[in-house]
Amino acid sequence: MTDYPKGIEGAVLLDSQDELKAYRQKFHIPTRKNGDEFIYLCGNSLGLQPKTVAQNIEQELEDWKNLGVEGHIQAKNPWLPYHEFLTEAMARLVGAKPSEVVVMNTLTVNLHLMLVSFYRPEGNRTKVIIESDAFPSDKYAVESHMQMHGLDSAEHLIELTPKKGTHCLEHQDILDVIQTTGDELALVMLGNTNYYTGQYFDMKPITTAAHAVGAKAGFDCAHGAGNQDLQLHDTGADFAVWCSYKYLNSGPGSLGGCFVNERHADDSSLVRFKGWWGHNKKTRFLMRDDFDHIPGAEGWQLSNPPILSMASVKASLEIFDQVGISALRKKADHLTGYMEFLINNLNTDKIEIITPSDVKQRGSQLSIFVKGASKTLFDKITDQGVMADWREPGVIRVAPTALYNSYQDVYRFVDILDKTLIQ
Ligand SMILES: *Cc1c(COP(=O)(O)O)cnc(C)c1O
Repeated sequence: MTDYPKGIEGAVLLDSQDELKAYRQKFHIPTRKNGDEFIYLCGNSLGLQPKTVAQNIEQELEDWKNLGVEGHIQAKNPWLPYHEFLTEAMARLVGAKPSEVVVMNTLTVNLHLMLVSFYRPEGNRTKVIIESDAFPSDKYAVESHMQMHGLDSAEHLIELTPKKGTHCLEHQDILDVIQTTGDELALVMLGNTNYYTGQYFDMKPITTAAHAVGAKAGFDCAHGAGNQDLQLHDTGADFAVWCSYKYLNSGPGSLGGCFVNERHADDSSLVRFKGWWGHNKKTRFLMRDDFDHIPGAEGWQLSNPPILSMASVKASLEIFDQVGISALRKKADHLTGYMEFLINNLNTDKIEIITPSDVKQRGSQLSIFVKGASKTLFDKITDQGVMADWREPGVIRVAPTALYNSYQDVYRFVDILDKTLIQ
């Protein structure tokens, strides 16, 4: 375990050495009634607003005001190809080729679109592997596809459950279930970073194991995008989906991202839900009858997208592009490790961090199980200026994010937690 300097002086020192410390100034930090900044640890739920978002949206409002429909072509950032302005930065962030990535819709919608194409149960091959504590929306989506195919999810959905007395899955167990399901397996669909425990799954071996038995592999990267170095292309995954409002700081309900591996780019035999925005750009406005999909991820687009929301994704991606995911991860690991170090040094046996201590199996989140705690404890912490997240039974989820959280944020949070526990 890394050693960290002690006390608030230690936190001040670490902040002064932080190579990314200037980035905090690029965000609006929510303030309390007394004018103090909140200790904001909810970046895994809703990321903070980059200060450049307002001017980006203002630009589009101005162009709409002054140009009307001409803005599709003549806006400073023409609306017709607007999504393309996001593609390269998003592709760099998730480690994919630009042709494999598109920003569109929202996460669950994209998941449905991907399931239409990549969950094609046939004969014996019907089963889907998912985490037992998957985000509910993911499970609803998969179950509804089973229903659509006339399959009973009780029989065809395989849930991965952590061993008794543990909170996280073991990597080998996932691979074993894939192998034993064998030719009955149609799809592995995991959250690449579990929203509850913060556990990160190495997508490449999971994908390789799925492909080895003839199944597809797709990932929900809601808690991975903007947090982990995903290297989606190298994982070999068939598809991935994510949202942009968590670590990606693009605003409430903002657009999601979608990755489709290039091996599927030109496959016109794939069943897909179609819309005019997925049609060949050259002939889209001829309004022809025959659907001619754009090769790559763009071919799954349905509608012309909401530009105001894209303007905010654009502002956020500009920041990620300046930092780069490896510098971001470096600080994030150090900052998360600092929080873990402080918590492990508390003089209490009431706390258990359920997130893996192995840095390769986590990102910028610690899920802290407080034995015998009720929400009252959490409310007391909130009253002292901490914004975190509470999940029954007794788990406080905190996300020390690299772009805007300081070492002093982390220090003060753990100090408040400690003092509240002994009360
Ligand atoms: C946040 C989150 C979602 C939310 O889906 P939306 O369609 O964006 O509302 C879905 N899945 C996971 C794993 C999440 O963490």
